[in-house]
Amino acid sequence: MSLEGNWFTEEHLGTGSAFSFRIRQKLHEEQTPYQKIEIFETEKFGNLMTIDGFVMLTSWDNFLYHEMMTHPVLFTHPAPHRVLIIGGGDCGTLREVLKHPDIRLAQQVDIDERVTRLSEQYFPELCESNHDPRAELHFGDGIKWVKDAGTDSYDVIIVDSTDPIGPGEVLFTKAFYQNCHRILAEDGLLVQQSESPLYHLELLTRMHKDMRSAGFAKTQTLNFPQPVYPSGWWSATMTGNANLSAFRQRDVETKTFDTHYYNQRIHSGALALPNFVEKHLQENI
Ligand code: SAM
Repeated sequence: MSLEGNWFTEEHLGTGSAFSFRIRQKLHEEQTPYQKIEIFETEKFGNLMTIDGFVMLTSWDNFLYHEMMTHPVLFTHPAPHRVLIIGGGDCGTLREVLKHPDIRLAQQVDIDERVTRLSEQYFPELCESNHDPRAELHFGDGIKWVKDAGTDSYDVIIVDSTDPIGPGEVLFTKAFYQNCHRILAEDGLLVQQSESPLYHLELLTRMHKDMRSAGFAKTQTLNFPQPVYPSGWWSATMTGNANLSAFRQRDVETKTFDTHYYNQRIHSGALALPNFVEKHLQENI
């Protein structure tokens, strides 16, 4: 990460590439016990949150990520009522989950309360459902939460974590998936952000392998654009025991809430993977 003149630049290690924002001002900087959080006002992307120098979200384009982390998995599950979000401290994922009227409980467990408090201040639109009676905000390590939770506690787990370095690293392990498998109902589903199909194919493939060896029968990656993340192209990987390419298409068409990006055609398209990704997965999992 570098700040030169009025540009914030995140370098993408190993690829000789970077993404820059022109900054109007730095709004906040703080080192928490877990990570360094910074908030900037950008010229075009609205506010920008970074953690340890890595871009987490911007006001302008976070809808792509938050909608694709939530609606595909919730419309793949036959009838989700109980949702666990690991990470997601900015509360954008929680807001999307609570748009579904059938959700009865959405628990968010982020290790760092400061991410949520700063999001309330600098991204208030993402926090508008924090006081929904179905929402519970907890602060602690996601790895411990899933270890302590009882069998058959959730229908859907959404892992909205930082990259697999720092406190988020433990959330990309087989031991974590094994606990998720145990605490999900028989028809339960897990989805996790799985980085860039172009830059991080080895990690994505390892996630498929680890999810399957943790006891899940199926894995399925969805892909979507995300301009501010490395390569501009991102993914989420779902796992569970049912066919993950089938979803409640009719319910998507008749949903009673607005989405900015997600619709039934986007969902179908996101399931289509490029040849090089399919081939790599077939050969390596
Ligand atoms: N998806 C975004 C990205 O890839 O840039 C990340 C958004 S969200 C802000 C990520 C959150 O994961 C952070 O708030 C961080 O505190 C949280 N986190 C990291 N490790 C965690 C852990 N072990 N348990 C719970 N939350 C964790």
